[in-house]
Amino acid sequence: MNSLSDRINRLSESQTLAMTRKSRELIAQGIDVINLSIGEPDFDTPDFIKDAAKKAIDDNFSHYAPVPGYQDLRDAISNKFKRDNGLDYSPDQIVVSTGAKHSIANVALALINPGDEVLLLSPYWVSYFEIVKLAEGKPIPVSAGIENDFKVTASQLEAAITDKTKLIVFSTPCNPSGSVFSEEELKAIADVVAAHEDLYVICDEIYEHIVFTGKHNSLAKFDHVKDRVITVNGVSKGFAMTGWRIGYIGAPAWIAKACTKIQGQFTSGASSISQKAAVAAVSADPSCTEEMRNTFKKRRDLILDLLKDLDGLKTNVPEGAFYVFADISSYFNRTHADTKIENATDLSMYLLNEASVALVPGDAFGEADYMRISYACSDEVINEAVKRIKAALNKLK
Ligand code: PMP
Ligand code: GLU
Repeated sequence: MNSLSDRINRLSESQTLAMTRKSRELIAQGIDVINLSIGEPDFDTPDFIKDAAKKAIDDNFSHYAPVPGYQDLRDAISNKFKRDNGLDYSPDQIVVSTGAKHSIANVALALINPGDEVLLLSPYWVSYFEIVKLAEGKPIPVSAGIENDFKVTASQLEAAITDKTKLIVFSTPCNPSGSVFSEEELKAIADVVAAHEDLYVICDEIYEHIVFTGKHNSLAKFDHVKDRVITVNGVSKGFAMTGWRIGYIGAPAWIAKACTKIQGQFTSGASSISQKAAVAAVSADPSCTEEMRNTFKKRRDLILDLLKDLDGLKTNVPEGAFYVFADISSYFNRTHADTKIENATDLSMYLLNEASVALVPGDAFGEADYMRISYACSDEVINEAVKRIKAALNKLK
């Protein structure tokens, strides 16, 4: 008998984390797996941030933190929004949570009623879909192909909006495509949203510091739509702090208050030590992220160059984040020994078994013909991984 709730039975495991779990299991068995499935910087957290955390421990920040976050952190985030994004969010419009994933879950639970439609710009980040389901909303992917650089247009969104649409969710720079929305593209989206009553947008900007060409722009900078935008950000990616678990939102005060109410019942304030580390991160001159960004750009160029050698693979040029989202559908219906590749999941399992390389099938991001490759690893690992992938793909006839 399955006594679990319908809610949990309907929920899928995060496929990014599932592939990482599988590769960790294989590594524990002594198999030399290259894990290009999880999206996390391979760098260590900068020393000045670690020092702030050590000081917080010594200063006995060991008690419950205020539910929406320490005042000094919310002040620092308010300044950061102004300094980096040209956004005016007062501290009472800011809520600090246990990672940006938690921030997004709070907002979804605060806004979505059962049956509300939520448009996801596809390819979308894996957890948006399941978080919307948990909130009893109906996720509706709106897709842009590789030929459009994976950027859904404002008119596509307009066509998908119904009287049940409550929320739109997207990321810029985008996980998994690396696409960065331009100011004009964002303005067009803002115009569509502004024209519909009671429609909100989560603009997830967690990769803002990892943009290679052009400039990161925030949707909330357009005044006519600012009171409908929830800006999500965090320290995981830009400051190599994935394990510290600090994310935050800037939002209309009534949404921030609702998120505080939810997390007051679920988690209380985020980790006190991590919050003090985050004060150092968001207060620092953003030039401290430059070295990591430059390294990611070199790696992007390297992997794109190496992937050119794989005839069956189609890629575009990602402008940010640290992923390549490649069309791998030309390998479908090919076989090696008794393995037949029918879809992206088959291909990812084949590459895990045959090449010991872990990637994430595109289905996790709403696009069944694709595969996500994370290149947040050294040049040496990138070279070895592509070599292995190539050898395994060449065996498929
Ligand atoms: N949004 C996007 C687009 C992401 O890629 C991630 C990383 N998993 C998150 C949110 C969540 O980040 P965090 O580590 O802060 O929970
Ligand atoms: N952002 C990362 C990814 O997409 C982290 C894993 C996760 O939280 O899903 O791989």
